[in-house]
Amino acid sequence: SKVTGKGRITHYDAELNNAREHQLRIENDIRDGLLRNEFDVWYQPIVDARSLATIGVEALVRWPRRPAGALPPDQFIGIAETSGLIYALGQFVLRRACQDLLPLSDLKLSVNISPAQFRDPEFENKVAGVITGSGFPAHRLQLEVTETYVLENPERARAAITNLKGLGTAVALDDFGTGYSSIGYLRRFNFDTIKIDKSLAGLIDTDEQAAALVGGTIRIASALGMAVTAEGIENEKQMKLLRLAGCDQLQGYWFSEPMPIEDLRSLRQQHG
Ligand code: C2E
Ligand code: CA
Ligand code: CA
Ligand code: CA
Repeated sequence: SKVTGKGRITHYDAELNNAREHQLRIENDIRDGLLRNEFDVWYQPIVDARSLATIGVEALVRWPRRPAGALPPDQFIGIAETSGLIYALGQFVLRRACQDLLPLSDLKLSVNISPAQFRDPEFENKVAGVITGSGFPAHRLQLEVTETYVLENPERARAAITNLKGLGTAVALDDFGTGYSSIGYLRRFNFDTIKIDKSLAGLIDTDEQAAALVGGTIRIASALGMAVTAEGIENEKQMKLLRLAGCDQLQGYWFSEPMPIEDLRSLRQQHG
């Protein structure tokens, strides 16, 4: 073989160095971006499955990152987490979203919280600070957490959920159906809402097993007193099946893509 062991190692080292350089570059860009106020927050409507009226929005961070070019959150949230910049970024998103949604008083607001933020023992106090500072009513706020953190530290997760609910804020389990999420452990945490991930909910019209799993999740969540939101709804058939299955809330491109606050505001004005 022409590929020597040494050649492989060198190649491997080069890739590792490239990955590290990429990570460092993005990390510095995030730090600068925060200082220069480059980040935006967009909002995707969440509709009531029965009335199809918009009852809330999910806040999603956006980084146009001019002139380097926009980077989707999946490509920088992880780096923000490992570098610790997620605390500042997460706090920015929460504060901005509460300010933006404050005047749209009939809408609830759901904000993504990364495991690193949730791990912070000061997290609940920080949320309380934003609520007080912005005047945003706690009962309109929902925080979305993923199972990664919940499974990693169930004791702390339970305490955090209790404390957040004490503030009047709702807590949702995000991305249900993607990881190890089992129906069994739902019982051990007092979530208000289960969000079925688009990778599962989006299969309801084509995959019988996925449809059965979605149906089972909805029945068990409702037995536990939890609401269910399905995300990633892209067509009418998916919408119909999820309504039939008894899903409470729906979210996806079929209803609306995420949009800047100005667009959400004018949409709400048109609808009176
Ligand atoms: P997520 O929390 O599961 O958010 C839903 C993602 O699905 C969003 O992608 C949204 O734009 C997209 N989406 C909505 N409807 C549809 C649909 O019908 N079809 C398809 N294919 N996609 C749809 P986005 O905005 O790129 O965000 C990706 C992920 O990045 C989020 O997944 C979330 O995990 C993370 N993220 C976004 N914003 C924040 C944030 O402010 N903080 C934290 N910690 N994470 C965030
Ligand atoms: Ca989410
Ligand atoms: Ca998801
Ligand atoms: Ca997610």
